[in-house]
Amino acid sequence: MRELISAAQLAKRIGEMGKEISRDYKGREPIFVGVLNGSFIFMADLLREVTIDCEVDFIKLSSYEGNASSGTIHLRKDISSDVAGRNVIIVEDIVDSGLTINFLKSRIEDSMPSSVAVVSLLFKREVAKLNFDLDYVGFEIPADYVVGYGLDMDQKKRNLKGIFSIEDELEKNCN
Ligand code: 5GP
Repeated sequence: MRELISAAQLAKRIGEMGKEISRDYKGREPIFVGVLNGSFIFMADLLREVTIDCEVDFIKLSSYEGNASSGTIHLRKDISSDVAGRNVIIVEDIVDSGLTINFLKSRIEDSMPSSVAVVSLLFKREVAKLNFDLDYVGFEIPADYVVGYGLDMDQKKRNLKGIFSIEDELEKNCN
């Protein structure tokens, strides 16, 4: 595995993102909606860098089997908050094809929030096809499969402190 982003780089960038969001949302009491499972560590660290009043909720979606998208989004757990008239900030671990976030953003918009923004720790710009611009991005990365800091490979590797590319390992297993 090759380290793409270290724990120190993550902490620094997430600190900046927390400051930016706190400034943009002052007096607006946003609800952060984390996308499970991958965003749980990012959410915990980002929230502790946010200095304004806010709420937290989670939604669970899945499209991936192993390291490939099945192309179909399944809703595993819905949010419990009423977001009508509220400022929602969706918290994603990674935007890859864009399928999940396109689905989720329009689903939240159907509930008549006052605004919806998206923050994603990682963004694979080269491959993403989005109907809108992401509002806050931590790092743009190449289209390789990555693990660590909440992101998994068959449910493992979420506990790594940095972000690692596993492309070398995948190639080895295919040869
Ligand atoms: P998308 O719908 O944008 O293709 O993918 C979104 C979801 O797929 C992410 O929330 C994440 O669960 C999973 N995913 C996409 N790319 C990666 C990756 O490189 N590593 C891991 N661990 N998960 C990924």
